[in-house]
Amino acid sequence: MNTIIEPFRIKSVEPIYFNTEAERALIVEKAFYNPFLIHSTDVMIDLLTDSGTSAMSSNQWAGMMQGDESYAGSPSFFRFEKTIQEITGFPLVIPTHQGRAAEKILFSILGGKGKYFVSNTLFDTTRANIEFSGAEGVDLICEEGKHPSIPAPFKGNMDTTLLKKFIEEKGTANIPLCIITVTNNSGGGQPVSMQNIKEVRAICTEYKIPLFIDACRFAENSYFIKLREEGYADKSVREIAKELFSYADGCTMSAKKDAFANIGGFLAMRNEDLAQHCRNLLIMTEGFPTYGGLAGRDLEAIAIGLNEVLDEHYLQYRIRSIEYLSNKLIAAGVPVMQPAGGHAVYLDAKEFLAHIPVDQYPGQALVAALYVHGGIRSVEIGSLMFGKYDEHKKLIPAQLELVRLAIPRRVYTQSHIDYVAEVIIEVFNKRDEIKGLTITEEPPMLRHFTAKLKPIESK
Ligand SMILES: *Cc1c(COP(=O)(O)O)cnc(C)c1O
Repeated sequence: MNTIIEPFRIKSVEPIYFNTEAERALIVEKAFYNPFLIHSTDVMIDLLTDSGTSAMSSNQWAGMMQGDESYAGSPSFFRFEKTIQEITGFPLVIPTHQGRAAEKILFSILGGKGKYFVSNTLFDTTRANIEFSGAEGVDLICEEGKHPSIPAPFKGNMDTTLLKKFIEEKGTANIPLCIITVTNNSGGGQPVSMQNIKEVRAICTEYKIPLFIDACRFAENSYFIKLREEGYADKSVREIAKELFSYADGCTMSAKKDAFANIGGFLAMRNEDLAQHCRNLLIMTEGFPTYGGLAGRDLEAIAIGLNEVLDEHYLQYRIRSIEYLSNKLIAAGVPVMQPAGGHAVYLDAKEFLAHIPVDQYPGQALVAALYVHGGIRSVEIGSLMFGKYDEHKKLIPAQLELVRLAIPRRVYTQSHIDYVAEVIIEVFNKRDEIKGLTITEEPPMLRHFTAKLKPIESK
Protein backbone atom coordinates (compact mmCIF):
# COMPACT_ATOMS: atom_id res chain seq x y z
CA MET A 1 0.00 0.00 0.00
CA ASN A 2 1.52 3.26 -1.12
CA THR A 3 -1.32 5.68 -0.52
CA ILE A 4 -0.72 7.93 2.45
CA ILE A 5 -4.16 8.77 3.80
CA GLU A 6 -5.17 11.84 5.77
CA PRO A 7 -4.74 10.54 9.36
CA PHE A 8 -8.07 11.95 10.53
CA ARG A 9 -11.78 11.75 9.89
CA ILE A 10 -13.86 14.90 9.49
CA LYS A 11 -16.47 15.60 12.16
CA SER A 12 -17.28 19.23 11.46
CA VAL A 13 -17.06 21.01 8.13
CA GLU A 14 -17.01 24.58 6.85
CA PRO A 15 -18.51 25.52 3.48
CA ILE A 16 -16.41 26.71 0.57
CA TYR A 17 -18.23 29.51 -1.22
CA PHE A 18 -18.00 29.08 -4.97
CA ASN A 19 -17.72 32.00 -7.35
CA THR A 20 -17.00 32.36 -11.07
CA GLU A 21 -13.93 33.58 -12.88
CA ALA A 22 -15.85 36.69 -14.04
CA GLU A 23 -16.87 37.47 -10.44
CA ARG A 24 -13.31 36.98 -9.21
CA ALA A 25 -11.94 39.30 -11.88
CA LEU A 26 -14.14 42.05 -10.42
CA ILE A 27 -13.31 41.12 -6.81
CA VAL A 28 -9.56 41.29 -7.41
CA GLU A 29 -9.91 44.63 -9.16
CA LYS A 30 -11.91 46.00 -6.22
CA ALA A 31 -9.22 44.60 -3.86
CA PHE A 32 -6.57 46.50 -5.84
CA TYR A 33 -4.80 43.26 -6.84
CA ASN A 34 -3.79 42.71 -3.23
CA PRO A 35 -4.78 39.34 -1.69
CA PHE A 36 -4.80 40.83 1.82
CA LEU A 37 -7.72 43.04 0.75
CA ILE A 38 -9.89 40.13 -0.48
CA HIS A 39 -12.57 38.88 1.93
CA SER A 40 -11.95 35.28 2.93
CA THR A 41 -15.50 34.25 1.92
CA ASP A 42 -14.55 35.21 -1.66
CA VAL A 43 -11.66 32.71 -1.59
CA MET A 44 -12.16 29.06 -2.55
CA ILE A 45 -8.82 27.61 -1.40
CA ASP A 46 -6.98 29.84 1.06
CA LEU A 47 -3.22 29.30 1.02
CA LEU A 48 -2.32 32.77 2.29
CA THR A 49 -0.71 31.36 5.44
CA ASP A 50 -0.43 28.29 7.67
CA SER A 51 -0.52 30.55 10.74
CA GLY A 52 -3.52 30.20 13.03
CA THR A 53 -5.43 28.42 10.24
CA SER A 54 -5.10 24.83 11.49
CA ALA A 55 -8.12 22.63 12.11
CA MET A 56 -8.27 21.72 15.78
CA SER A 57 -8.95 18.13 16.80
CA SER A 58 -11.95 16.86 18.75
CA ASN A 59 -9.56 16.45 21.69
CA GLN A 60 -8.48 20.07 21.47
CA TRP A 61 -12.12 21.22 21.38
CA ALA A 62 -12.89 18.98 24.36
CA GLY A 63 -9.87 20.44 26.15
CA MET A 64 -11.20 23.94 25.56
CA MET A 65 -14.30 23.09 27.60
CA GLN A 66 -11.97 22.19 30.46
CA GLY A 67 -10.16 25.51 30.29
CA ASP A 68 -10.04 27.02 33.74
CA GLU A 69 -10.33 30.79 33.46
CA SER A 70 -8.98 31.66 36.91
CA TYR A 71 -6.79 34.76 36.86
CA ALA A 72 -3.93 33.10 38.75
CA GLY A 73 -2.78 29.52 39.19
CA SER A 74 -5.16 27.89 36.69
CA PRO A 75 -4.70 24.12 36.22
CA SER A 76 -4.77 24.83 32.46
CA PHE A 77 -1.49 26.71 32.88
CA PHE A 78 0.10 23.85 34.77
CA ARG A 79 -0.88 21.40 32.01
CA PHE A 80 0.53 23.82 29.41
CA GLU A 81 3.74 24.28 31.41
CA LYS A 82 4.25 20.56 31.98
CA THR A 83 3.73 19.71 28.31
CA ILE A 84 6.30 22.27 27.19
CA GLN A 85 8.76 21.20 29.89
CA GLU A 86 8.41 17.58 28.74
CA ILE A 87 8.82 18.30 25.04
CA THR A 88 11.59 20.92 25.24
CA GLY A 89 13.35 20.19 28.52
CA PHE A 90 13.25 23.93 29.32
CA PRO A 91 12.14 24.39 32.95
CA LEU A 92 10.80 27.97 32.71
CA VAL A 93 7.69 28.53 30.57
CA ILE A 94 6.02 31.88 29.89
CA PRO A 95 2.79 32.07 27.85
CA THR A 96 2.22 34.93 25.37
CA HIS A 97 -0.65 35.77 23.03
CA GLN A 98 1.40 34.89 19.94
CA GLY A 99 4.98 34.46 18.74
CA ARG A 100 5.78 38.12 18.18
CA ALA A 101 4.74 38.97 21.75
CA ALA A 102 7.39 36.52 23.00
CA GLU A 103 9.89 38.19 20.65
CA LYS A 104 8.92 41.66 21.79
CA ILE A 105 9.60 40.74 25.43
CA LEU A 106 12.87 38.92 24.74
CA PHE A 107 14.38 41.59 22.48
CA SER A 108 13.24 44.50 24.67
CA ILE A 109 15.44 42.93 27.35
CA LEU A 110 18.40 41.74 25.28
CA GLY A 111 18.35 44.28 22.42
CA GLY A 112 19.52 47.86 22.11
CA LYS A 113 21.75 50.04 20.01
CA GLY A 114 25.06 48.54 18.91
CA LYS A 115 23.93 44.93 19.44
CA TYR A 116 23.73 42.19 16.81
CA PHE A 117 21.47 39.15 16.73
CA VAL A 118 22.82 36.41 14.48
CA SER A 119 20.62 33.80 12.84
CA ASN A 120 20.22 31.39 9.93
CA THR A 121 17.36 33.66 8.80
CA LEU A 122 15.23 35.82 11.05
CA PHE A 123 11.50 35.79 10.42
CA ASP A 124 10.13 39.25 9.57
CA THR A 125 8.44 39.92 12.96
CA THR A 126 11.60 38.72 14.73
CA ARG A 127 13.73 41.09 12.68
CA ALA A 128 11.24 43.92 13.24
CA ASN A 129 11.34 43.43 17.04
CA ILE A 130 15.15 43.33 17.00
CA GLU A 131 15.37 46.49 14.90
CA PHE A 132 12.73 48.24 16.99
CA SER A 133 15.02 47.78 20.02
CA GLY A 134 17.79 49.57 18.08
CA ALA A 135 19.80 46.39 17.45
CA GLU A 136 20.63 44.77 14.12
CA GLY A 137 19.57 41.35 12.83
CA VAL A 138 22.08 39.38 10.78
CA ASP A 139 21.20 36.41 8.55
CA LEU A 140 24.02 33.92 7.96
CA ILE A 141 22.32 31.29 5.78
CA CYS A 142 24.39 28.50 4.22
CA GLU A 143 25.27 28.70 0.52
CA GLU A 144 22.74 25.98 -0.54
CA GLY A 145 19.97 28.07 1.01
CA LYS A 146 20.56 30.83 -1.51
CA HIS A 147 19.70 28.81 -4.64
CA PRO A 148 15.96 28.02 -4.97
CA SER A 149 16.19 25.52 -7.82
CA ILE A 150 19.06 23.38 -6.47
CA PRO A 151 17.84 20.66 -4.07
CA ALA A 152 19.77 19.94 -0.85
CA PRO A 153 18.55 18.20 2.35
CA PHE A 154 19.16 21.00 4.87
CA LYS A 155 18.94 24.34 3.11
CA GLY A 156 17.99 26.04 6.39
CA ASN A 157 21.45 25.52 7.94
CA MET A 158 23.47 28.39 9.30
CA ASP A 159 26.90 29.08 7.79
CA THR A 160 29.15 28.29 10.75
CA THR A 161 32.29 29.72 9.12
CA LEU A 162 30.55 33.04 8.66
CA LEU A 163 29.21 32.83 12.22
CA LYS A 164 32.70 32.47 13.71
CA LYS A 165 34.02 35.24 11.50
CA PHE A 166 31.16 37.53 12.46
CA ILE A 167 31.67 36.92 16.20
CA GLU A 168 35.43 37.54 15.89
CA GLU A 169 34.72 40.76 14.03
CA LYS A 170 32.02 42.25 16.30
CA GLY A 171 33.03 40.78 19.65
CA THR A 172 31.07 38.55 22.00
CA ALA A 173 29.97 41.49 24.15
CA ASN A 174 27.91 42.92 21.25
CA ILE A 175 26.10 39.68 20.42
CA PRO A 176 23.50 38.92 23.10
CA LEU A 177 21.95 35.94 21.33
CA CYS A 178 22.16 33.53 18.41
CA ILE A 179 18.80 32.36 16.98
CA ILE A 180 18.13 29.32 14.83
CA THR A 181 14.77 29.34 13.07
CA VAL A 182 13.34 25.83 12.54
CA THR A 183 12.21 25.30 9.86
CA ASN A 184 13.54 28.36 8.11
CA ASN A 185 10.24 30.06 7.24
CA SER A 186 11.59 33.02 5.25
CA GLY A 187 13.99 30.67 3.45
CA GLY A 188 11.25 28.44 2.05
CA GLY A 189 10.40 26.26 5.07
CA GLN A 190 13.72 24.45 4.68
CA PRO A 191 14.98 22.36 7.63
CA VAL A 192 18.11 22.73 9.77
CA SER A 193 20.17 19.59 10.49
CA MET A 194 20.99 18.36 14.01
CA GLN A 195 24.66 18.45 13.00
CA ASN A 196 24.37 22.15 12.19
CA ILE A 197 22.61 22.89 15.49
CA LYS A 198 25.38 21.03 17.34
CA GLU A 199 28.09 22.98 15.52
CA VAL A 200 26.37 26.30 16.23
CA ARG A 201 26.03 25.23 19.88
CA ALA A 202 29.77 24.51 20.08
CA ILE A 203 30.60 27.95 18.68
CA CYS A 204 28.12 29.63 21.03
CA THR A 205 29.66 27.78 23.99
CA GLU A 206 33.19 28.75 22.91
CA TYR A 207 32.24 32.44 22.75
CA LYS A 208 29.71 32.32 25.63
CA ILE A 209 26.74 33.42 23.52
CA PRO A 210 23.32 31.96 24.42
CA LEU A 211 21.44 30.07 21.72
CA PHE A 212 17.66 30.28 21.25
CA ILE A 213 15.46 28.34 18.85
CA ASP A 214 12.63 30.03 16.97
CA ALA A 215 10.61 26.84 17.36
CA CYS A 216 7.43 27.57 15.35
CA ARG A 217 7.86 24.45 13.17
CA PHE A 218 10.00 22.29 15.48
CA ALA A 219 8.00 19.12 14.75
CA GLU A 220 8.23 19.50 10.96
CA ASN A 221 11.98 20.15 11.30
CA SER A 222 12.43 17.13 13.59
CA TYR A 223 10.62 14.91 11.09
CA PHE A 224 12.92 16.10 8.29
CA ILE A 225 15.90 15.16 10.51
CA LYS A 226 14.40 11.68 10.92
CA LEU A 227 13.97 11.31 7.15
CA ARG A 228 17.20 12.88 5.95
CA GLU A 229 19.93 12.81 8.58
CA GLU A 230 22.11 9.80 9.28
CA GLY A 231 21.56 8.17 12.65
CA TYR A 232 18.01 9.44 13.21
CA ALA A 233 15.84 7.05 11.18
CA ASP A 234 15.10 4.86 14.21
CA LYS A 235 14.56 7.64 16.72
CA SER A 236 11.09 8.97 17.49
CA VAL A 237 10.31 12.55 16.50
CA ARG A 238 9.72 13.27 20.18
CA GLU A 239 13.29 12.13 20.98
CA ILE A 240 14.68 14.13 18.07
CA ALA A 241 12.83 17.27 19.20
CA LYS A 242 14.11 16.80 22.75
CA GLU A 243 17.69 16.48 21.47
CA LEU A 244 17.26 19.57 19.28
CA PHE A 245 16.10 21.67 22.24
CA SER A 246 18.84 20.21 24.47
CA TYR A 247 21.46 22.23 22.56
CA ALA A 248 19.64 25.51 23.19
CA ASP A 249 19.21 27.85 26.14
CA GLY A 250 15.63 28.69 25.31
CA CYS A 251 13.05 29.20 22.59
CA THR A 252 10.34 31.48 21.25
CA MET A 253 7.27 29.84 19.79
CA SER A 254 4.15 30.74 17.86
CA ALA A 255 1.49 28.18 18.77
CA LYS A 256 -0.33 29.24 15.58
CA LYS A 257 1.98 26.92 13.62
CA ASP A 258 3.00 23.49 14.95
CA ALA A 259 0.70 23.59 18.00
CA PHE A 260 -2.49 23.55 15.84
CA ALA A 261 -3.88 26.50 17.79
CA ASN A 262 -5.66 29.50 16.31
CA ILE A 263 -3.84 31.85 18.69
CA GLY A 264 -1.01 31.63 21.24
CA GLY A 265 2.70 31.42 21.82
CA PHE A 266 5.33 31.14 24.52
CA LEU A 267 8.85 31.73 25.72
CA ALA A 268 10.76 28.92 27.40
CA MET A 269 14.26 29.00 28.86
CA ARG A 270 16.76 27.76 31.44
CA ASN A 271 18.03 31.03 32.92
CA GLU A 272 16.05 32.12 36.01
CA ASP A 273 17.24 35.77 35.91
CA LEU A 274 16.21 36.22 32.29
CA ALA A 275 12.87 34.51 32.96
CA GLN A 276 12.19 36.86 35.88
CA HIS A 277 12.93 39.84 33.67
CA CYS A 278 10.59 38.46 30.99
CA ARG A 279 7.80 37.88 33.50
CA ASN A 280 8.10 41.47 34.73
CA LEU A 281 7.55 42.76 31.19
CA LEU A 282 4.87 40.14 30.57
CA ILE A 283 2.75 41.47 33.41
CA MET A 284 2.83 44.95 31.85
CA THR A 285 1.98 43.97 28.30
CA GLU A 286 0.45 40.47 28.18
CA GLY A 287 -0.88 39.47 31.58
CA PHE A 288 -0.15 37.50 34.74
CA PRO A 289 2.53 34.80 34.25
CA THR A 290 0.04 31.91 34.44
CA TYR A 291 -2.00 33.09 31.44
CA GLY A 292 0.10 35.69 29.58
CA GLY A 293 -2.46 37.10 27.14
CA LEU A 294 -4.29 33.82 26.61
CA ALA A 295 -7.52 32.34 27.93
CA GLY A 296 -7.32 29.14 29.97
CA ARG A 297 -9.00 27.33 27.07
CA ASP A 298 -6.24 28.45 24.69
CA LEU A 299 -3.61 27.03 27.04
CA GLU A 300 -5.46 23.69 26.94
CA ALA A 301 -5.72 23.67 23.14
CA ILE A 302 -2.00 24.43 22.80
CA ALA A 303 -0.95 21.76 25.31
CA ILE A 304 -3.00 19.12 23.48
CA GLY A 305 -1.86 20.33 20.05
CA LEU A 306 1.82 20.13 21.00
CA ASN A 307 1.43 16.43 21.74
CA GLU A 308 -0.65 15.77 18.62
CA VAL A 309 1.90 17.36 16.29
CA LEU A 310 4.50 14.77 17.33
CA ASP A 311 2.32 11.95 15.94
CA GLU A 312 4.41 10.52 13.11
CA HIS A 313 1.40 9.47 11.01
CA TYR A 314 0.42 13.11 11.02
CA LEU A 315 3.93 14.32 10.16
CA GLN A 316 4.30 11.77 7.39
CA TYR A 317 1.02 12.96 5.86
CA ARG A 318 1.95 16.61 6.39
CA ILE A 319 5.38 16.52 4.77
CA ARG A 320 4.22 14.15 2.04
CA SER A 321 1.21 16.27 1.08
CA ILE A 322 3.39 19.33 0.47
CA GLU A 323 5.82 17.23 -1.55
CA TYR A 324 2.89 15.75 -3.51
CA LEU A 325 1.83 19.21 -4.70
CA SER A 326 5.42 20.16 -5.45
CA ASN A 327 6.02 16.97 -7.48
CA LYS A 328 2.89 17.50 -9.58
CA LEU A 329 4.04 21.00 -10.45
CA ILE A 330 7.60 19.92 -11.23
CA ALA A 331 6.29 17.17 -13.54
CA ALA A 332 4.35 19.82 -15.50
CA GLY A 333 7.45 22.00 -15.85
CA VAL A 334 6.29 24.69 -13.39
CA PRO A 335 9.32 26.38 -11.77
CA VAL A 336 9.24 25.76 -7.99
CA MET A 337 11.72 26.02 -5.14
CA GLN A 338 13.35 22.64 -4.47
CA PRO A 339 13.01 20.57 -2.45
CA ALA A 340 9.53 21.31 -1.09
CA GLY A 341 9.52 22.93 2.36
CA GLY A 342 7.69 21.68 5.44
CA HIS A 343 4.67 23.95 5.25
CA ALA A 344 4.57 25.51 1.80
CA VAL A 345 5.35 25.28 -1.89
CA TYR A 346 7.06 28.30 -3.42
CA LEU A 347 6.63 29.18 -7.10
CA ASP A 348 9.53 30.97 -8.78
CA ALA A 349 7.63 33.88 -10.34
CA LYS A 350 10.68 35.35 -12.09
CA GLU A 351 10.90 32.22 -14.20
CA PHE A 352 7.15 31.53 -14.35
CA LEU A 353 6.47 35.01 -15.77
CA ALA A 354 9.78 35.66 -17.50
CA HIS A 355 8.11 38.30 -19.74
CA ILE A 356 7.28 40.53 -16.73
CA PRO A 357 10.18 42.67 -15.46
CA VAL A 358 10.74 42.75 -11.68
CA ASP A 359 9.56 46.37 -11.40
CA GLN A 360 6.15 45.15 -12.62
CA TYR A 361 5.93 42.68 -9.71
CA PRO A 362 5.68 39.27 -11.42
CA GLY A 363 4.99 37.57 -8.05
CA GLN A 364 1.98 39.78 -7.34
CA ALA A 365 0.75 39.37 -10.93
CA LEU A 366 0.89 35.60 -10.45
CA VAL A 367 -0.95 35.83 -7.11
CA ALA A 368 -3.74 37.76 -8.88
CA ALA A 369 -3.86 35.29 -11.79
CA LEU A 370 -4.16 32.26 -9.47
CA TYR A 371 -7.02 33.96 -7.67
CA VAL A 372 -8.91 34.94 -10.81
CA HIS A 373 -8.44 31.61 -12.54
CA GLY A 374 -9.15 29.26 -9.63
CA GLY A 375 -10.10 31.21 -6.50
CA ILE A 376 -6.79 30.32 -4.83
CA ARG A 377 -5.28 32.87 -2.45
CA SER A 378 -1.48 32.90 -2.16
CA VAL A 379 1.07 35.52 -1.19
CA GLU A 380 3.95 37.26 -2.95
CA ILE A 381 7.34 37.01 -1.28
CA GLY A 382 9.37 39.21 -3.55
CA SER A 383 9.84 42.83 -4.50
CA LEU A 384 6.42 43.98 -3.30
CA MET A 385 7.22 42.59 0.18
CA PHE A 386 10.95 43.34 0.36
CA GLY A 387 11.69 45.84 -2.43
CA LYS A 388 13.13 49.23 -1.56
CA TYR A 389 13.65 52.42 -3.58
CA ASP A 390 16.91 54.16 -4.43
CA GLU A 391 17.21 57.96 -4.32
CA HIS A 392 15.64 58.28 -7.81
CA LYS A 393 12.62 56.24 -6.65
CA LYS A 394 13.80 53.36 -8.80
CA LEU A 395 12.98 49.93 -7.38
CA ILE A 396 15.80 47.96 -5.74
CA PRO A 397 14.30 44.51 -6.23
CA ALA A 398 14.35 41.60 -3.75
CA GLN A 399 16.76 38.76 -4.41
CA LEU A 400 13.94 36.37 -5.34
CA GLU A 401 10.42 36.75 -6.72
CA LEU A 402 8.46 33.95 -5.06
CA VAL A 403 4.80 33.12 -4.60
CA ARG A 404 4.11 31.10 -1.46
CA LEU A 405 1.34 28.55 -1.24
CA ALA A 406 1.19 27.82 2.50
CA ILE A 407 -0.85 24.75 3.40
CA PRO A 408 -3.02 25.03 6.54
CA ARG A 409 -2.68 21.99 8.82
CA ARG A 410 -5.39 19.29 8.59
CA VAL A 411 -7.70 21.59 6.58
CA TYR A 412 -7.62 20.57 2.91
CA THR A 413 -7.90 17.07 1.45
CA GLN A 414 -6.05 15.53 -1.47
CA SER A 415 -8.72 16.57 -3.98
CA HIS A 416 -8.32 20.20 -2.91
CA ILE A 417 -4.59 19.86 -3.53
CA ASP A 418 -5.21 18.17 -6.91
CA TYR A 419 -7.41 21.13 -7.82
CA VAL A 420 -4.68 23.59 -6.76
CA ALA A 421 -2.13 21.81 -8.97
CA GLU A 422 -4.56 21.85 -11.88
CA VAL A 423 -5.21 25.59 -11.53
CA ILE A 424 -1.49 26.42 -11.35
CA ILE A 425 -0.71 24.28 -14.40
CA GLU A 426 -3.53 25.89 -16.41
CA VAL A 427 -2.29 29.34 -15.46
CA PHE A 428 1.25 28.24 -16.41
CA ASN A 429 0.05 27.15 -19.85
CA LYS A 430 -1.42 30.57 -20.58
CA ARG A 431 1.17 32.60 -18.70
CA ASP A 432 1.88 34.84 -21.71
CA GLU A 433 -1.53 36.50 -21.23
CA ILE A 434 -0.66 37.70 -17.70
CA LYS A 435 0.18 41.39 -17.39
CA GLY A 436 2.51 43.15 -15.01
CA LEU A 437 1.26 45.44 -12.22
CA THR A 438 2.06 48.94 -11.07
CA ILE A 439 1.59 50.40 -7.57
CA THR A 440 -0.96 53.22 -7.28
CA GLU A 441 -0.79 53.71 -3.50
CA GLU A 442 1.50 52.39 -0.77
CA PRO A 443 2.29 52.98 2.91
CA PRO A 444 5.88 53.71 4.02
CA MET A 445 6.36 50.38 5.86
CA LEU A 446 5.26 46.74 5.40
CA ARG A 447 3.65 47.89 2.17
CA HIS A 448 2.55 44.48 0.91
CA PHE A 449 -0.30 44.32 3.42
CA THR A 450 -2.12 47.42 2.19
CA ALA A 451 -0.57 48.54 -1.13
CA LYS A 452 -2.94 49.16 -4.04
CA LEU A 453 -2.01 48.04 -7.55
CA LYS A 454 -3.40 47.95 -11.07
CA PRO A 455 -2.47 46.11 -14.27
CA ILE A 456 -0.23 47.75 -16.83
CA GLU A 457 -2.21 47.86 -20.06
CA SER A 458 -0.15 47.08 -23.16
CA LYS A 459 0.07 49.96 -25.60
C1 LIG B 1 4.82 33.10 12.52
C2 LIG B 1 6.22 33.18 12.93
C3 LIG B 1 6.63 34.03 13.97
C4 LIG B 1 5.69 35.00 14.64
O1 LIG B 1 4.63 34.40 15.27
P1 LIG B 1 3.17 35.07 15.37
O2 LIG B 1 2.38 34.10 16.18
O3 LIG B 1 2.66 35.24 13.97
O4 LIG B 1 3.33 36.38 16.06
C5 LIG B 1 7.96 34.02 14.32
N1 LIG B 1 8.85 33.22 13.71
C6 LIG B 1 8.49 32.39 12.71
C7 LIG B 1 9.52 31.51 12.06
C8 LIG B 1 7.17 32.33 12.29
O5 LIG B 1 6.82 31.51 11.28
